[in-house]
Amino acid sequence: MTDAQETAAASSLRTTGGAPPEDDGPTAAGAPTPLLEPREGIPPVIADDAALAEMIAAFAAGSGPVAVDAERASGYRYGQRAYLVQLRREGAGTALIDPVACPDLSALGEALSSVEWVLHAATQDLPCLREIGMVPTRLFDTELAGRLAGFPRVGLGAMVEGVLGFVLEKGHSAVDWSTRPLPEPWLRYAALDVELLVDLRDALEKDLDRQGKLEWARQEFDAIASAPPPEPRKDPWRRTSGMHKVRRRRQLGVVRELWETRDRIAQRRDVSPGKVLSDAAIVEAALALPVNAHALAALNGFGNRMSRRQLEQWQAAVDRARAMSESQLPQPGQSVVGPPPPRAWADKDPEAAARLSAARSAVSAVAEEVNMPQENLIAPDTVRRVCWEPPQPVDTASITSALTALGARPWQVEQVTPALVAALSAKAAGTTGATGTQPAETAGTPQTAGTPEAGTPGVGAQETGVRQPGA
Ligand SMILES: [Zn+2]
Repeated sequence: MTDAQETAAASSLRTTGGAPPEDDGPTAAGAPTPLLEPREGIPPVIADDAALAEMIAAFAAGSGPVAVDAERASGYRYGQRAYLVQLRREGAGTALIDPVACPDLSALGEALSSVEWVLHAATQDLPCLREIGMVPTRLFDTELAGRLAGFPRVGLGAMVEGVLGFVLEKGHSAVDWSTRPLPEPWLRYAALDVELLVDLRDALEKDLDRQGKLEWARQEFDAIASAPPPEPRKDPWRRTSGMHKVRRRRQLGVVRELWETRDRIAQRRDVSPGKVLSDAAIVEAALALPVNAHALAALNGFGNRMSRRQLEQWQAAVDRARAMSESQLPQPGQSVVGPPPPRAWADKDPEAAARLSAARSAVSAVAEEVNMPQENLIAPDTVRRVCWEPPQPVDTASITSALTALGARPWQVEQVTPALVAALSAKAAGTTGATGTQPAETAGTPQTAGTPEAGTPGVGAQETGVRQPGA
């Protein structure tokens, strides 16, 4: 890219002064402009208390929402810790913080507690931000906003290009951010990640408002901000890739022992578990049940560059599983809470399968109507649970409370309840599975005698699609 183009990019950015472009959606301005350099250059990385205190004061005195991003070292280090935190706010500029040198950012979190935080795909960054004391009370998720607004591609690069007309450099998202010192090109990339977030937020807010979805987005963002930290996964070893090949309980026992041994080593060395031993090697050993380290060394993923001591440590894990009594071995399949996987429904409960099919096409029609992915309109798991055990009788009130109890937001309940009531009532009335493919135009028709709400004019899929929430 020529200097002239770069300068053009920088100056046009300055002239926007943080305001979004006139129009939403792809800009009419012509070819997108590459964005190569942060507006105020690359700020020095904050790595001591004095610099941090200064930065906190500057950000507290800034105005408007604050853009927040964090970089982790997935695939390199153990865990999901943040290795760089980037922020930007009007009046304060951009800040890059080293959270290894400054592991307690709670004072920063507090200074920004009444400010809206703008994140892209917030649920990915919030856990590592929480670990260093940063928890938002209000947020705006530009990725989720893009989904709700019906964008086909919601990656930061695609959205910045489509909405603001700038091309961000790609290529550093998957680097080892625990590297010190961080190379300048990475820092430039990191600063550019927050450079346009607030501009993007402003443009998306307008777009959502125009589509009558701003209140929906608010409810989604509040749900994310108020969600408790996720529970640690139960039996994480069951997620070893290639597990489907492992059937016998003793083999499952080997997977568990090897996985747990690997996890302890990875944690102690602070490296990604995959760098200690591959999932494929774990599965290989489980299937082969080697009798000694010599046999183990012959398996794929072992041997080669492994020391005798390492081989013995893996074999010790295998031996532990081999020596276990039947009752100590893990059960095949995770203890299932909730309905079985949908592919099993046709056998287990054909009526439930028919209900699910009808409900899915009804939901799909509403999703198309409101122009967003189905999973953002309503969690697929919520639909499955309601279809597996529908409330009795099926009516607006019972579906509303079932959806609400499963965590659906008010806007979601409002949008999908009429469609689900119609789909599930049709099933209850004994219609065949063929209705599963029926278009959801019928979703609001009064098929359900005795449920006045279902027949109320204005709740059909056509109307609900464009109805202003709370209007
Ligand atoms: Zn980033």
